[in-house]
Amino acid sequence: MTVLVTGGAGYIGSVTARAIEARGEHVIVLDNFSTGHRQIEGLLPGVDFIEGDYSDRDILQNIFSKKRAIDAVIHFAGMTLVGESMDRPSDYVRMNFVGTLTLLEEMAARNVHHFIFSSSAATFGVAEQVPIDEKHPQRPINPYGWSKKAVEDLLPYLKGVGGPAYIGLRYFNAAGAARDGLLGEVHRPETHLIPNILNAALTGSAFHIFGTDYPTDDGTCERDYIHIEDLAEAHVLALYALRRGHDSGFYNLGNGQRASILRVLETARCVTGLSISVIESIRRPGDPPILVASSDRIKHDLNWKPQREDLAVIIEDAWRFLREHPDGYR
Ligand code: UDP
Repeated sequence: MTVLVTGGAGYIGSVTARAIEARGEHVIVLDNFSTGHRQIEGLLPGVDFIEGDYSDRDILQNIFSKKRAIDAVIHFAGMTLVGESMDRPSDYVRMNFVGTLTLLEEMAARNVHHFIFSSSAATFGVAEQVPIDEKHPQRPINPYGWSKKAVEDLLPYLKGVGGPAYIGLRYFNAAGAARDGLLGEVHRPETHLIPNILNAALTGSAFHIFGTDYPTDDGTCERDYIHIEDLAEAHVLALYALRRGHDSGFYNLGNGQRASILRVLETARCVTGLSISVIESIRRPGDPPILVASSDRIKHDLNWKPQREDLAVIIEDAWRFLREHPDGYR
């Protein structure tokens, strides 16, 4: 069968496209390369790449009519930054919500039955308790989280009128790189914690901690860092599950281990053997203090078993990738 992967030239999308292709599927990536990397096309020779927007009806109609064997869409593309979403809320609604609605309408019109959706821990807002399981209330505190929750809320209604069966995966913090160092995290500008710490280690520049006055044990935000290959594997399992007729639904996806910014920093110092200088800055708007997943449901329902849970292993893989790609993909 053929799987359409939107945003497959990005970080999570490329690692997942590769994992799906490695299982013998035909994979088509649809990416407008606004944040994705053209070089990834050369790194994934077995994958077909189409340049375009996932919200462009003409492109979608063209793809779905010509590639009749497409039975599933894995939807990574969209805007993904909490901080940016606070500055550009309408763009997040337009791209992540309205754009995804267009994609879902075209899927329904062309009988593409399976949809795997990149949702987010940001749909939960401020945690009432941790770890956060699927029953935890979803009250997003930033437009990014809102846009993801809005799609989640819509999916059952669309399914009721001929839309696709779906599995939404609520990522906690994707981190690390492919074990062989081929694919990893490259954003321009980089805003994420682990690459920023490692960039500081590599270049000798200072790393900024956004907020040291949170109500956490050491005053810095706590997150749940999940290895990118474990995350990719969850998509493979979700695809197979939908094809087997598994119920539609949503799963939280993380390691279940809480790591404060200071703990990530200390681990990065151990992994790199370098002292990393730090500047304590003010809070970044939109950041909840703690996001830690319970992934029990996906472990139970889809038999997902993370292989690279150790934070040091995640940072080692990210560090290897960064040293091999100090200037990103070139
Ligand atoms: N963070 C930081 N310095 C940086 C980048 C991120 O202190 O240079 C903090 C950020 O404020 C948040 C945590 O690290 O508390 C994780 O941020 P990231 O952007 O990696 O992921 P998010 O949780 O926002 O999806």
